[in-house]
Amino acid sequence: MADGSGRKNGRDSGPRRQCVCPKRPQRSTNPELGTVYLVGAGPGDPDLFTVRGHRLLAQADVIVHDRLISRELLDRARGDAEIIDVRKTCGHGERAQSKINTILVERAKRGLTVVRLKGGDPFVFGRGWEEWCACRGAAVPCTVVPGITSALAVPAAAGIPITHRGTGRAFAVVAAQGSTSDEAAGLDYGALAKITTVVILMGRANLAIVAQSLIKAGRNACTPAACIERGTTPRQRSVVATLGTIAEAADREGLRAPVVTVVGEVVHCAGECGNQLVGRSVPNAELHEPLAGRRVVITRSTSSSHQLRERLTAAGAITIDAPMIRIEYPPNPDRLDAAIANLGSYQWIAFASVHSVRGFFERLATLGQDARALSPCKVAAIGPITASALNKRGIRAELVARPYSTSVLADDLLANTADGTGRVLCPCGDTADSGLPQELRRARLGVDGVVVYRTVTLKPEESALRAISDGVDAVLCCSPSAARRFARLGIDIASATVACIGPSTASAARAAGMPVAVTADEHTDRGLVAALAQHFRSAEEAARLHVEYAR
Ligand code: SAH
Repeated sequence: MADGSGRKNGRDSGPRRQCVCPKRPQRSTNPELGTVYLVGAGPGDPDLFTVRGHRLLAQADVIVHDRLISRELLDRARGDAEIIDVRKTCGHGERAQSKINTILVERAKRGLTVVRLKGGDPFVFGRGWEEWCACRGAAVPCTVVPGITSALAVPAAAGIPITHRGTGRAFAVVAAQGSTSDEAAGLDYGALAKITTVVILMGRANLAIVAQSLIKAGRNACTPAACIERGTTPRQRSVVATLGTIAEAADREGLRAPVVTVVGEVVHCAGECGNQLVGRSVPNAELHEPLAGRRVVITRSTSSSHQLRERLTAAGAITIDAPMIRIEYPPNPDRLDAAIANLGSYQWIAFASVHSVRGFFERLATLGQDARALSPCKVAAIGPITASALNKRGIRAELVARPYSTSVLADDLLANTADGTGRVLCPCGDTADSGLPQELRRARLGVDGVVVYRTVTLKPEESALRAISDGVDAVLCCSPSAARRFARLGIDIASATVACIGPSTASAARAAGMPVAVTADEHTDRGLVAALAQHFRSAEEAARLHVEYAR
């Protein structure tokens, strides 16, 4: 049913685009040729990009992309990849398309791997077939990697099932673009009016004409209709009306391209599945996602940033991984091995972080031992996250310091050490930041601090630096060493919010010259994300009030 050809009512009255594909594509025999991959980028949310697409993006020498491609996908390109924005390079129209074809063919003939990244699916109103034909016509190998089309994903993201037993047994997807209203009017409305669900792409400018044409062709003006802007992205907004009023409602709400419009009884289901509310024009941010669209840099080591990234993404943020440090175990195990051999001589073993738990238990495992080795000692931990890392290894800490603070743990240990003479084993890191042994000594406890992990500073990847210099909303620091390393990069982040997981990280960041605006009260990933969200909420509220006063 999809028809972007300009035909009127099924008859050949308008100009018709010819398929330029040669009948028999030439076979490539040249091993020096590169390959062109026509890759579907999905509807907008980077999480809806395919695994195969990710793999190709990371390998590509050249990436040729359209306007609607998310920045986050491009950030995953190799640092030295050539990135071509065809809108900027080639402009619009027929000539633009032939320039794009030339770029693809020319780069592949130089032996380069080219990813042609196209919104949604490459073969849904994307002129993908023309590009495929241009490559094959020039004997350049070309492979299509399907993507999730906005025609299906955008209604789903707004809670609209485009099929539904009873009310939506068939659907049509149409393109209603055209520089003149005649082109949009060139669809076969008689046939379309009989199809239960009609999905309209590229139709923002012509929405009123399309809606009126459907009504004239016999579709009831009261049929529910929804218009969804930037579906699946943090800026998704939508409006529900009827076929007779949808164009006016979209104008009133200021909805702008790209939009997908759905016409049919299925629109009644909108929002019921709890996806996104439809009916009012409400940005997702207000509903579920306090960090919607915020670009947030994670400076923590890759091995421990997974959960933080998940939390940020769930809050709507776009994350940029820029690990400043890497954790290595164990640096020099001699002292640790001696301590493990003498665990019976310690009254307490105190863990200050998840890294100290991991480092200690890795070594224990290497020595062929397990949690039972700790049976002569009592176990203390700073904070619930360290306690839960111990729990996973079968150890329930007798003492968990809350809030997260070395001095609180020192006081607690002193209070719980029978005669003040028992020794404490303290597995820690190699930086001055591992302050627990000093704190315990200050409390006059006998302490052996043994290094179980080492912090190595890293040079961030080019792609991460590029993403940061494109502009970010926040930089998250979870350790003093990561904060110091980030500060040394000397990147201008004056307009970004620096958020730290706790006071020691905050003071290290400040000392290194970073303008810390947020320090989490709860020194966990959850606490950090909540504090950042609260900060942005307050800033937005203040800006809103300012506007109201100014009126
Ligand atoms: N090949 C693409 C469609 C290209 S045509 C696909 O399969 O999705 C471009 C049109 O797609 C836009 O005008 C708009 O109608 C629709 N579109 C693409 N992404 C969209 C999004 N995130 N939200 C709303 N509409 C979108």
